[in-house]
Amino acid sequence: MDNTEIADRLETFALMLELAEANPYTIRAYRRAAETIRSAPLPVEDLVHRNRVRELRGIGQGIEARLRELVDTGQIGELAELERELAPDLVGLGRYLGLSAKRSIELARTLDVRTADELREAAATGRLRDVPGIGAKTEALLLEALARESEPRPRQGLLLSTARELVGTVAAAVGGEPAGDVRRWRDSCEWLAVVCATPEPEPVLDRFAGLPQIVALLERDDRRAVGVTVEGVPVELVAAEAERFGTALVRATGSRAYVEALELLPDAPDEEAVYRALGIPWLPPELREQPFEGEPPALLALPDIRGDLHCHTTWSDGRASVEEMGRAARDLGYDYVAICDHSPAVGAVRGLTPDDLRRQREEIAAANELLAPFRVLAGIECDILADGRLDLPDDVLAELDWVQASVHGGQRMPAPEMTRRVEEALRNPYVRCLSHPTGRYINRRPENALDLERIFQVALEQHVAVEVNGLPLRLDLSGEHVREALRAGVEIVCSTDGHSVVGLGNMILSVATARRGWATAANVVNTRPLEAILDP
Ligand SMILES: [Zn+2]
Ligand SMILES: [Zn+2]
Repeated sequence: MDNTEIADRLETFALMLELAEANPYTIRAYRRAAETIRSAPLPVEDLVHRNRVRELRGIGQGIEARLRELVDTGQIGELAELERELAPDLVGLGRYLGLSAKRSIELARTLDVRTADELREAAATGRLRDVPGIGAKTEALLLEALARESEPRPRQGLLLSTARELVGTVAAAVGGEPAGDVRRWRDSCEWLAVVCATPEPEPVLDRFAGLPQIVALLERDDRRAVGVTVEGVPVELVAAEAERFGTALVRATGSRAYVEALELLPDAPDEEAVYRALGIPWLPPELREQPFEGEPPALLALPDIRGDLHCHTTWSDGRASVEEMGRAARDLGYDYVAICDHSPAVGAVRGLTPDDLRRQREEIAAANELLAPFRVLAGIECDILADGRLDLPDDVLAELDWVQASVHGGQRMPAPEMTRRVEEALRNPYVRCLSHPTGRYINRRPENALDLERIFQVALEQHVAVEVNGLPLRLDLSGEHVREALRAGVEIVCSTDGHSVVGLGNMILSVATARRGWATAANVVNTRPLEAILDP
C-alpha cells in the first residue's frame, strides 16, 4: 500500500466519522494525519512495520492502531462498517437532490438500499413513500431531480478556494486540467469540470468513479461522466481524444454565453490552435464571462506583485508573529509586507490601542533588522466609525507607513448614510486604501448599501486606492466592481488580508479577481517598488 492509498483511506475514514457525527477533534486528527502521510518522504507502510510511524507529526496511538490494521489487513474494520451503514454515495446523491445526510441515511435504512442505483430503482417502483416523512410532494420532487437531464449544478455555488481544491485534486488524479467556473476564477463556482486527453476513456472514467472524492455517478457516457461528492456537489469529467483536447477545453471552460458566441469550434489539440483556427487572439479564461471581441488587455499577473499590503498578526486576530509574517512574505519573493492589525472598535477580536501600536513598531523594527533589505511596513486596518471618523487619532495614523480603512460594524445602514460614512473616511489624509469596500460575504451576506460610483469618485479625488481583498469568502471588490473602479480611474491594491502564513497564499485569488476586472499591472499600487509605497 503506498502513501496515497493510505492517505485516501484515512480521508474516507474522516468523512465517515463526520457523517456519523463523531467528535470533531477526532475527525480533524484523521484529516491531518492523511495530509501528513500524503506528503511523507518515506513509505508509511515501512514505518508502521518498523514501529516508527508515531515519529510523523500528528500520529498518535489511536491513529497508529488504525494504520497497523490497514497495513496488515488491507482495511479498517470500523471504516468498512461505517461505509455499510452510512452509504456515502447515497448521502452524496441525497444532498445533491436536496436531502440532509440524516434523511438520506434514514432512507437507506428504511428502504434497505445501499447504492445510488438501488435508490433510483426504489424511486422508480414507488417505494419512496414508504419512508416516514416523504409524502407525495417530496417524492415527485425527488423523481424529477433524479431524472433531470439538464446541467447538474450544486444547490449553492462553492467558494472559489473550495472548488479549486476539489477540481484540482480530481484533475491531478485523472491527469487532466481544471475547466469550468474554476478556470475562469468565478468567486462562486457552480460548474465544476475537468478535461483530459486520452485515446482510451474507459480506464480514466473508472479512475474518476473510484476517487475518494467522488461517491456516486450521476451520469456516464463513452467520454463523459458526472460524479457527485459526499457534499452533493456534481463534478463533470470530459475524456477527450487528444486531437480534440483544445476544443473540449474551450467548451468546458465556458462560459456558455462566451462559447456560444464563437463560431463553430474547430477540432484542435490545444487551445492556442483553436484560437488560431478561429483567427482571433487567445483569451485569458478570466475574460470569458461574456462574448468578447477585439484584443485582450495585458492583464496583471502574480509575479507583478511586489508586496502584500494587508495582513494580520497575533497582535490582533492573526496566528503568526510579525517576524513570521515578514519572513513568509519575503519567501514569496516580495519586497515588502504591511502589518495591518485591527483597531479597538472592531469589537469581536482584539484591536490595537495607540500604545499597542507603538510597542508593535519596536517588534517591526526588530524584524526589519533580521529581514533587510526586505521591509516590514507598520500599518493598520483602522475601523471607520459610524459617523465616518476613524478609530484612531490622526497623530497616531501619521506615524504609520500604510493605513487601510474598513467598515466592520454597523453594516446595515441605508445607502445615503453608509456612503457619507465611507466618503468621510476617504477624506482623512492618512488613509491610503479602502478595505473590502462592499463588505459582502460570498453566498452569505449581501453587499453593504453603498453608492460605489460616488465612492470611486471621492477615492479618485483623494488618491485613495480600493482593495481587492483575497479572502476566499470576500473577494471584494468583485471582478465587476474592479472594472467599474478602473473605468473611474481609481487604483486598486491586491491584498490577502492574510491571518496566517498560509493565508498570504491567497494573493492568487486577489490577482485573478483583479484580472476578471481587466486590471493591468499599471492599475495596481502594490506592483510598484517600496519607494512608491512609502512616498506616493
Ligand atoms: Zn477587515
Ligand atoms: Zn483585515
